[in-house]
Amino acid sequence: MKTFIPAKKRFGQNFLKDNRVVSAILNAFSAKAGQRVVEIGPGRGALTQALLNSGATVDVVEIDNDLVAELQARYPALQGHLHHQDALSFSLTQLHLDQEKVRIIGNLPYNISTPLLFHLLTQKECIQDMVFMLQQEVVDRLAAQPGCKAYGRLSIMMQLHCQVQALFSVPPQAFSPQPKVMSKIVHLVPYEKPLFVLESMTTLENILRDAFNQRRKTLQNSLKAYFTAEALTAVDIDPHGRAEQLSVAQWVRLANELFK
Ligand code: SAM
Repeated sequence: MKTFIPAKKRFGQNFLKDNRVVSAILNAFSAKAGQRVVEIGPGRGALTQALLNSGATVDVVEIDNDLVAELQARYPALQGHLHHQDALSFSLTQLHLDQEKVRIIGNLPYNISTPLLFHLLTQKECIQDMVFMLQQEVVDRLAAQPGCKAYGRLSIMMQLHCQVQALFSVPPQAFSPQPKVMSKIVHLVPYEKPLFVLESMTTLENILRDAFNQRRKTLQNSLKAYFTAEALTAVDIDPHGRAEQLSVAQWVRLANELFK
């Protein structure tokens, strides 16, 4: 007799049960025959069967022993493509790609979504695009523009590397068990050529950390360890402005100036 295995909270397991939402995500992703697709956290396969049906070559990365066993039994086509692994340590080099780029999809475990996005960004040269379900609040931060409350370090770090498009929201009722928060789909497309030439990522991270940790202060105060008010004015930055008012281009300009 098959035993029912309850969802595991520690793995962020909220399984999609609403077929209209499943179709909307798959339409947004639109996998095609011949493409290389990686699904992160396939779970019980809500998205997986349709991805396999598209004719794409599908690899999946799943951490949970029980779900891996279920997926093996249910999807023989995944043989050799089912990676029983933590996505945070999964490397796209494991796929032996030959110049081709992968497309990545996932209803991500919310507890690891931000570190996972940064882990994937370190491999962006191998990635064509990504469609993810995340907490709505995280997608709003990823896509936020200067001047918005949600605009911060995450928006700048992501928009530096990717075109970010928030697609549509998904209510808790679309999942079992239901999460406590709204979710949202986001489409991320890494730039082929960087939009901005950044001399030092560490320098950018340092000034962003200081400025956004004190986001209510003016830049001449929050960045006083690095710049005088005159030095800010000299690179066309208003010393009386605040961190959330600067565009990604302006942050890169400041980091490059400091690095010089
Ligand atoms: N794709 C399925 C769906 O939409 O119904 C499941 C989504 S559920 C939100 C997240 C999935 O990611 C679960 O299957 C969970 O076991 C898996 N997972 C959690 N942490 C993971 C990790 N670090 N690496 C790989 N998979 C992980």
